[in-house]
Parts: sequence; structure tokens; C-alpha cells
Amino acid sequence: MANRRTFILQSLFGSVSVGKLLTGKEAHAESLTKPAANKPLVISTWNHGLPANEAAWKILGTGGRVLDAVEAGVKVPEADPSVTSVGYGGFPDRDGKVTLDACIMDEQGNCGSVAFLQHIMHPISVARLVMEKTLHVMLVGDGALQFALANGFKKQNLLTPQAEKAWKEWLKTAQYKPVINIENHDTISMLALDASGNLSGACTTSGAAWKMHGRVGDSPIIGAGLYVDNEVGGACATGLGEAVIKIVGSHLVVELMRQGNPPAKACQMAVERIIKRQKDYKDLQVGFLALNKQGEWGAYSIQSGFNFAVHNGQENKLIDASSFVK
Ligand code: ASP
Repeated sequence: MANRRTFILQSLFGSVSVGKLLTGKEAHAESLTKPAANKPLVISTWNHGLPANEAAWKILGTGGRVLDAVEAGVKVPEADPSVTSVGYGGFPDRDGKVTLDACIMDEQGNCGSVAFLQHIMHPISVARLVMEKTLHVMLVGDGALQFALANGFKKQNLLTPQAEKAWKEWLKTAQYKPVINIENHDTISMLALDASGNLSGACTTSGAAWKMHGRVGDSPIIGAGLYVDNEVGGACATGLGEAVIKIVGSHLVVELMRQGNPPAKACQMAVERIIKRQKDYKDLQVGFLALNKQGEWGAYSIQSGFNFAVHNGQENKLIDASSFVK
């Protein structure tokens, strides 16, 4: 069912190149005069991808820079207290601390990242500044906080009453058995392609709820939670970060696309790599989302229930990914 639905929606969205056949000369002339039908485009994970895509589209749809679009997009769930897996309102670690991971990558292969960052509502913007203002790729913990404060970010309490209540409830048993399913895997990862074919990506999360203090997942790790190669495409991940890191998932998906695999197939092959290695795959969820340079997109997850939002300028729609376990 999900396959069929995904297929139909992909067809509606025109994720594959369709249209009249043009001669080489005509095609060249046409490509110079108007952007391909599937560009610009923005895609992102989970249903909070819908409002995130809207914010990104305001920039992307008016010819803005694709990097600005992905940053603006993921800032929406970062600031939304009802999203309990990203930014403000994110569920804390087992010590009651909200610790955030984020990374960003532009069309030139530049990247920036922060991990184990506390008290800052928009880690994605700090990650971008790491990319633009330092010689480094990644800052963590107190160093990342110090850098953020020095650059004008405000220190804030990110633990909402709702998240604190959920944490106190968890403390009653305090068992750390990450139940990996669709409810607790809600990192926002976003990929976008502008009208001239430039790609960027962003990824931001509060990570696994009730994790050990100091735990960092895949989301801020370039190549694991996110990877963009402007020659090929971009990929991003959501789900159990440890499983994604072990196969350097997003980089793997991009390399599989480089070898000629369409985005959905590349995501499926990366999921199959996890399944081959993790005997306990039935107990965990990982989803990959990918977008290639031609504006074709695809996704695949271990468990069913992973969905993603696609905005092509006409519509902003939530789509179910195909999965290994049906
Ligand atoms: N990948 C994130 C992490 O492991 C969490 C998620 O996407 O659910 O930190």
C-alpha cells in the first residue's frame, strides 16, 4: 500500500523526468530558458517537515540561496515547543538536560556542526556560523556554547514543562531501553535543490530521549546524519543514530547515487546494509531520505511509519516511505 501510494505521489510530483522527448539541441535550449520541472524542490523528514518546508520555500521559491532556505526551514521545528525531538521542547537526557546536535552543508561542500550544545534554541544557526566563521567543522559542549554566546545567541531554558513532566514520568522506572519506533524518531533533516541545481542540507535534533548525558548521535556527524555532494545529490537520516553512524549512512547513500542508483534505491541499499549488520534490526528504526541533482527524491526505512514532506512549489505533501519490515 505504502509502495503504491508512494509511487502514485512520486508520479504526481514528477520526481522522475517526464515530458515530451526533445532532440539534444532543443533540450539544451529549453534547459537554458527554464528550470526543470522538478527544481526547485525541498524535502524533509516527518510531518514537522511540512511547516519547515513552507519556511524554506519562502526563500527557495523566490530565488534565494538554498543554504538560507534549509537553515530557515529547520528553525521552525527547533522553535516549536510541541516538537519534542528537536530544539526547544526537546525531551532531555536522563539527567534532565536538553542537549542538541545539528549540522549543515552547502553546495560547495562546506560544512559546520555542533554537538552536545545546551541552552541555545537554534543550534542549526550556530552550526552555520561554525562553518562560516571558523576554520573548524565541529564544536561541542561548552566550547560550542561559548562560541554561540560570543556570536550573540541568547542563553535560554529549553526544558519546557511538558518535557520536564515526561522526564519525571520516565524517572519512575528510569529504564533505558530506547523503544525505536515512529513516535520517538523525529529529527528534522532537510535537503533542497535550487533552480540552478545547487544543493544544501540541514539536520537538527535533541537526539534520543533519556540518552546518557554526553551522548551524541548521528545528526551532527557529517556523512552520518547528513551529506551533500553538489555533483551528485544529498542524503540525510533519522532514527537510531548509533546504527546510522556505524555505516556512515548518508555518505553511503550519496555514493550509491553516484554509482547510478536512483535515490529510493540508494536509501534501500543503505537500510539493507544496516539490516545485514544489526541482528536486532527488528527493534530499531532508521530512515534515509535522498535527493539527487536532477530533483529526483526517494526514501526508505527499516520499519514502516517513516514519512517525509516534499514541497515542489505547487504542493507540500507528506509521503510514506517504503520499508523493509512491512
Ligand atoms: N538520529 C537521532 C539520534 O540518534 C534521533 C532521531 O532521528 O530520532 O540522535
